[in-house]
This record gives sequence, structure tokens and C-alpha cells, in this order.
Amino acid sequence: MTIKAILTEPNKILRQVSKLVEKVGKEEQKLMDDMIETMYKANGIGLAAIQIGVPKRIIVMDISKNEEKKNPMYFVNPIIKNKNSDLSRYEEGCLSVPDQFAEVDRPSSCEVEYLDYNGEKKILKTSGLLATCIQHEMDHLEGILFIDYLSKLKKSMIIKKLSKQKNKVDRIIV
Ligand code: ZN
Repeated sequence: MTIKAILTEPNKILRQVSKLVEKVGKEEQKLMDDMIETMYKANGIGLAAIQIGVPKRIIVMDISKNEEKKNPMYFVNPIIKNKNSDLSRYEEGCLSVPDQFAEVDRPSSCEVEYLDYNGEKKILKTSGLLATCIQHEMDHLEGILFIDYLSKLKKSMIIKKLSKQKNKVDRIIV
């Protein structure tokens, strides 16, 4: 398994729409292994393939928040169905938008149809944190980031901050 670099806003690759996976083979499984390892290393609870620069419809997640009992989840070609009209609100962050957080409303429950790590078709009913997380990750597959739901002003402030961070030179004291 290899830890990959996570792309951050305003990298244009993050705005690509990811492509359907034709078949879950060795290459896709290797990608999922790298993704989950990269996600754990970065202390995230979800990661989409496009965040490491691969435009495939693949998501990994682990919302267990338990170091000893990990619960990795793999979603290939996920489709969201039966979104609840009730919304729930979480303060969201994103590995591709480092150190920025904002409240986002999303349907409080939904179903996800997807292929698992072995390419088997599955349906999962989600609610709470799991529902929010899968919807956040699904957005990545469409090139959407959580900051797109914020006001123009707030969004541009965040992008400005991130652009500055990128150009910042390392400070050394000698
Ligand atoms: Zn994200």
C-alpha cells in the first residue's frame, strides 16, 4: 500500500467529473488499498479517488473513529437513492480543503447502491454521519466541494486563504 498525496483546492483536477468503473479488478483494489491507507494517515473519515488525482467513481470511508477496530468501507460506482426530505446539519471539513470547516445541510438519510471491494452489488441504508459522509464523497465524484454550498463571499475567502497557504515559503530559524 502506498500513501498518496491529497490534492487541495484550488487544484482544477478536483473539479473533474469521475468516470464509471467498468470492472472491479486488481488495479481498482490496489487503488482502494492506497486510498484507505492515505485516508487513515490524514485522519479523514472519507476519501474519493479524485482527491488523489484518479478520476474514477470510487470512494472509501471509515466512520468508526476507533483505532483498534477499523471498519473500512469501499464504494465503487455508487448511486444515491431515496433521499429523505428531512435535512440534518453537520460542520463539515474536507481533506482537500485543509483546516476549513462550515455547516452544511444534507438529506438526513438515503440509500446507496454500489459495488463493494469484490465487485459485488450492494445496497446500504444510511443515516446520520454515514449519510452525510457518503453524500459529501459523492459530490467529489461530480467535482463538487462542500464550500460550493456556502455564500460566494465565504467561499472566496476560503479559496484565497488556501491559495496563500500554497505559496507560503517554509520558515526556518537558524
Ligand atoms: Zn471531501
